[in-house]
Amino acid sequence: MSFTIHGTGICAGIAIGQAMLHSHTRLEAGHYLVPRSQIAEELARFDAAVAKTRAEFTALRETIPANAPSEFEAFIDVHMMILNDSTLSKVPRAIIEREQCNAEWALKLQADELLAQFDAIEDGYLRERKADVLQVVERLMLALGGQPGYVPDITDAGQSKILVAHDLSPADVLQFKQHQFASFLTELGGTTSHTAVVARSLNLPSIASLHHARSLIYENEMLIVDGTQGVVIIDPDPQVLADYRLRQHQIELERQKLRRLRTTRAMTLDGTGVELHANIELPEDVAEVADAGASGIGLFRTEFLFMNRDTLPNEEEQFAAYRNVVESMQGLPVTIRTYDLGSDKAIDGEQRPVLQNPALGLRAIRLCLTEPRRFQIQLRAILRASHYGKTRLLIPMISAAAEIDQTLHQIEIAKQTLAAKNIAFDPRLEVGGMIEIPAAALALRMFTRKLDFLSIGTNDLIQYTLAIDRTDDAVAHLYDPLHPAVLHLVALVISSANRTGTPVALCGEMAGDVKLSRLLLGLGLRQLSMHPGQILAVKQEILRTNLSSVRLLARRMLRIADPDRMRAMLERLNAD
Ligand code: PEP
Ligand code: MG
Repeated sequence: MSFTIHGTGICAGIAIGQAMLHSHTRLEAGHYLVPRSQIAEELARFDAAVAKTRAEFTALRETIPANAPSEFEAFIDVHMMILNDSTLSKVPRAIIEREQCNAEWALKLQADELLAQFDAIEDGYLRERKADVLQVVERLMLALGGQPGYVPDITDAGQSKILVAHDLSPADVLQFKQHQFASFLTELGGTTSHTAVVARSLNLPSIASLHHARSLIYENEMLIVDGTQGVVIIDPDPQVLADYRLRQHQIELERQKLRRLRTTRAMTLDGTGVELHANIELPEDVAEVADAGASGIGLFRTEFLFMNRDTLPNEEEQFAAYRNVVESMQGLPVTIRTYDLGSDKAIDGEQRPVLQNPALGLRAIRLCLTEPRRFQIQLRAILRASHYGKTRLLIPMISAAAEIDQTLHQIEIAKQTLAAKNIAFDPRLEVGGMIEIPAAALALRMFTRKLDFLSIGTNDLIQYTLAIDRTDDAVAHLYDPLHPAVLHLVALVISSANRTGTPVALCGEMAGDVKLSRLLLGLGLRQLSMHPGQILAVKQEILRTNLSSVRLLARRMLRIADPDRMRAMLERLNAD
């Protein structure tokens, strides 16, 4: 009989296929006493399991496919680190000796203790690392049982298989990628889990937080995954299946059709041009930017160059990366944001105290300014790249006028250093600031006088306005771009910038949400920056928009306080 289960959609779209259950050992272990005479043997068995697991990670690391998402390597490193930590590789040995128990039981006792400690952690990101510890423990359990290292037997998996797992480790995901599953479903995982990161990077409709999925779904059962709604339909009726197949087909057709707009200029029905720029994380993302027909890069999140590595990128490496992007864009503007590290985006291996409120601490420009030497390296690299094409520099998370003064001073020093060495750069490099703190939005004039352009970072603006940790799954339902306070701030920034003639863009996730395109245009925005995959859909919406009618409705939305009326008005705005 057909039924549905609900979770958190982590990648939109529809997938249809047969369930393939990913069985885990979990932490069930037999408990038996080991005679003193055999303790040495038991210890050796445990050590051999650790060595075997370590060898598996090493082998995996060496066989990472070139096209694997960059996170894979870091994920494997994290698991290797967990395995090598004495809490897992040594403490169970002591338990074996003390309790005179079998290795599995010792491992289970230690794992229970470790996992309980994670529940007490407040930081959402760290709490999610509990899943990593669990995955390493499960792998060790398997090694102890003498079974093959990798849990799922997925050799016969094809296009139409849907993986149903408790959780997925990086190692599982590597196999997942090679075997081209149509989707994956997990019982665990929040929005910052590895599962979510990988689902998005592979662009597969997928759902996390499907509690008890593995007990509700049988092997080979037919499933429909609606990643947009976060719904799985199990054993669907023929009619429902036919409907979804049709929808799936329509989505694909729509995607193909959109490609025709690649070279069409983004312009409203009444002839107002709109700049659609792309957000990128790494230089290799540029290929997708060109494919989407973006008219520039509105946000290059350079901090990703600093992650998943042991050493910081030096000036030459950064320069090569920025120049590569600037040259690839062939004269179109490239907005390079100085590194936004800190908070949830830490540099590997850098020891910093665990803070209660990292998002309110030393991140982004605040961090840059406390590390002038490191900052200078990046500023010089950006300036050098500016010689090879239209480059703009964007400062993240500004909140005080002094930050702008100090940054401009730092840029000046970098220019002087380059000039003294006769190294070319664009002397008129434009400098902009990200408006992502309510204070910056409210005191905009403090910044417009000093900056060449602005970019509204709604991801953080919403986080800080509504006091909602954007990485915390537990409060995700309160994260609302249509909250009147958010809309007022966004509208205020756009209108103030337009009044003073300061170019303003919006580069948070709101920019890529087609349901919000007309609203943003109506509020006066003419430049949006988003993931390349969203550009064509937003362009299509702009091409259908009559600016004079949406302007009026958008203004009226600013006067609405009731959420239901707000949504009704948005529907009106998006009608026809
Ligand atoms: C934002 O905050 O909206 C933004 C674009 O920056 P990030 O998502 O990198 O914090
Ligand atoms: Mg931000």
